[in-house]
Formats: sequence, C-alpha cells, structure tokens
Amino acid sequence: MFCVSAASKKPLPQLPDPEMGLSELGDQMVIALQDYMPLRDDDLPLQKDQEYRLINSSHSDWWTVQDDRGNAGFVPSILVAEKNGKNFERFEWYNKHISRWEAEELLMKEGKEGAFMVRDSRQVGVYTVSVFTKAPGSNGEKNPRVKHYQIRQTDTEKKAFYLAEKYLFSTIPELIHYHQHNAAGLITRLRHPVTKGERSSQEITDPSKDQWEINPEELDLGQKIGCGQFGLVLEGKWRDRKVAVKMVKEECMSDEDFKEEAQVMMRLSHCKLVQLYGVCTQRSPMCLVFEYMENGCLSDYLREKKGRLSQDLMLGMCLDVSEGMAYLESSNFIHRDLAARNCLVSKNNEVKVSDFGMTRFVLDDQYTSSQGSKFPVKWSAPEVIKYSKFSSKSDVWSFGVLMWEVYNEGRLPYENRSNSEVVESLNSGLRLLKPRLAPDAVHMLMEWCWKEKPEDRPSFALLLHELAALSDL
Ligand code: ADP
Repeated sequence: MFCVSAASKKPLPQLPDPEMGLSELGDQMVIALQDYMPLRDDDLPLQKDQEYRLINSSHSDWWTVQDDRGNAGFVPSILVAEKNGKNFERFEWYNKHISRWEAEELLMKEGKEGAFMVRDSRQVGVYTVSVFTKAPGSNGEKNPRVKHYQIRQTDTEKKAFYLAEKYLFSTIPELIHYHQHNAAGLITRLRHPVTKGERSSQEITDPSKDQWEINPEELDLGQKIGCGQFGLVLEGKWRDRKVAVKMVKEECMSDEDFKEEAQVMMRLSHCKLVQLYGVCTQRSPMCLVFEYMENGCLSDYLREKKGRLSQDLMLGMCLDVSEGMAYLESSNFIHRDLAARNCLVSKNNEVKVSDFGMTRFVLDDQYTSSQGSKFPVKWSAPEVIKYSKFSSKSDVWSFGVLMWEVYNEGRLPYENRSNSEVVESLNSGLRLLKPRLAPDAVHMLMEWCWKEKPEDRPSFALLLHELAALSDL
C-alpha cells in the first residue's frame, strides 16, 4: 500500500484554530500537488493527484478540504491547486505585479542556477516562467542569463497547461511542481523560487529566524539510545511528540554545509523516510531532531527477529524501503549510504529510510574516501568505488545489498572478506550469493540492481512496481 506524506515548498506555518472553517461547503475542487502526512489530529492526509472538495480557504496558509469519503480537515494551502483557479498568491514562486525587467534583475541578483519565478505576462491572463541559468545555450547565448517561458494552453476542450509540449497539466501549480523536479525541456529544473522580497505579516510578527530552527526551550532531552557517526543519539520530546536527537560533535560535521542543506532535507517528507523536524543550533553541541523510531535500526531488528521473519514481512520491508527511495529518486536526491543500518523501524514495524545525504557532511576521511577503512565498500556500486560517481542508480545497487541483508536476516554481506577482496571479486563479475530465504523473483531483482552499468539497473520507481506486484501474488 502506498501512503501519504508531507513535503511543502514553504515551511509549514502555525495551524489556525481547529474550530475554524469546517462549515462553508463549496463546489470548488482542488488537486493535491503531493502527498501530505498529517501533523495534527485535525489535518487531513493528501494523496498526490487526488481531488478534494474545498471547504474553506479563508486562512491563507491552511485550507479545509474534504476527501471522497467525507473526511474533512486542514491541509497546507501550498500543497493543493484549485481547478480553474488563478489564485497563486500563496505560492512563493508567484510575483503578481512585476515586469520582465524587474524579474531579470531579481533573478540575476539571486544568481543561483534554477532561481525562478512565475509572473503575469503583458498579455492578460497569461503567465510567464522566468528562470536564471548559467548553462550554455544552444545558439551561443551568453551566460549567465534569464530565460523566459510563456505558460501555454492547449486548444482542446479540456484546457491543459504546458511549458514543453509533451507535459500537460490541468493547473499551473501542478505544472510548476513538476518542473521543480524535472527540467523536461527547460534549460534547467526550477530550483529556487524567488519572491520580490515583501515580507509577509507572519515573518514580521515572528522573528524566530529560520523555519528549521528548533527553539531549545521546546526540546527536552532524555536518555541515550545510540551512538552514530556524528555523536550521541538521545531520545527527547519536542512539542508533545517523542523525537530522536542527534547531538553533533563539532569536529565530526561540516555544520555550515549542513545548515544550508537542512532546509532541502526538511522539505523531503514521506511516510517511508525518517523525518527531520529541525535543527537546534542554539545549543552546543548543535542537535538534529528526527522522528522517533521505536524499533531501532533495521539491521539490529533483523538479527533480533532471526528465524521468525515471514516471507510477507521481508518483502514488506523491501517494499517500504523502495517506496521511500522512489520518493528520493523523484526528488532527485541521492542517499549515498543506503544500507540496513541506515533504515529504522517504527512502532508499527514499518521500515523507513534514514540518514539520506548525510555522508556529505561527515568530516572523517576514513568514512568519505572510497579508500578509507570506514567507507561502505560492500554496499557501493563499482562506479562509486572507482570514481565516486554517486547517482540514484548507485543507490539502486546499495538497495540490492539491502535486500540481500533482509533475506539473510541481518547478516553482514561478504562477512569474512576484506574490502579489497570484495572489489576484486566484483571486478571479475562475481556477486553476492542468493540468500536461502529469497524467492527466485526477489533474487532476480537483486541481480538486476547489481548490473555493472548504472543504466542497466532498474529505477526505484520500477523496483517499487515489481516488488508491489510480488506482494500482490
Ligand atoms: P549517525 O547518523 O550519527 O551515524 P545513526 O543514525 O547511525 O547515527 O544512529 C545511531 C543509533 O541511534 C541507531 O543505530 C539507532 O539505534 C539510534 N537512532 C538513530 N536515529 C533514531 C531515530 N530516529 N529513532 C530511534 N532511534 C534512532
């Protein structure tokens, strides 16, 4: 089963009064731009591309919607698009009254590849996407520059919007959301929304710095639950929820780089990813606050349950991870260290992917250099070992090893062999052996993940599809 999750382009604001707005039923329908996992009891989960009835949109950040089973609740307004609507002011990519010239000036000033905005064209009712790029143009355009793409509409009875002919969307927010993840004909993906810089009233009244900053007074620290690459992991409490807190030793992490990336990581949100809630930089050491996972890491969990793991359970674990990874893949985010030790198990025995992208901030050559003693060679694709060429397809290789760990109930791969022996045997075309508990179909998927050439390996989207088909058998 696929479940709902959250990921917003703007950090989530304070919720309105729960009493507000469950009354004014309307006929307006909205489409979910992405999955949303409720944060409070009165939120409603959203499933990407599903339609919901809009009940109340009087609050700018939280709208009330109703699903097709009659459940109503709050959802972040930036995660839904009104069908036939032209009200984009809640999206941070939209600038209403801005000229082409002003747009160019703002985007050039921002100077980041993929900085973009949507603005009104001179033609009434038409919108333009302006995007900054340094990429070389096909007809020798100078760099850096701003490119403008008009959002077009099809002539068909049911109007659809597009930027590049092949990709049609029923609303503009859906189109923008798609191109935030896929260049698909544009010079670059739409990476950084840029606004004119008028501060919203919320920002003016709330000087609480960056949205990912966690107020140390709201964070209670408890017992030690583990020890990792960056230091101690404690259990804790934050806003009435149990959390895991990673206390980051200064010498272990490149924290400036991390702080920059934390915002991207917080927006990655899916029910099969361990959610990063925020960062507390006002405490020393700095700490990272994550969703709490009662049943600890997957490798330990597998070893504890050895001999008692059913086929359904093992397949379900692989399916969970492939679901989380398919989401990362679709967000163009590379994990770089996928392994059973970097997945965690929830209270309901769901497996979630953790520590995604974190190796980039580790300050330990032994861990980050492929020659280093702590480098996860046994999970790494050949192109990573040889040229540090990470990609979603190198994550796919690691996923094959993770499946192997699952079906071997937590055994370490290539148990008694050194890293150099492993590299040698991989080079001569050898692969891990079929686990005794793995059905042929699952073993075939593992072998597919271990194809020498990255392009011959399946995507996570495909793996998810294949595993889901096996679980339906
Ligand atoms: P690091 O990323 O610093 O290497 P790990 O993620 O390996 O740290 O965490 C070390 C241990 O702490 C894990 O093996 C697990 O037992 C515990 N732990 C980490 N994160 C969580 C979490 N979100 N919920 C519960 N336990 C956790």
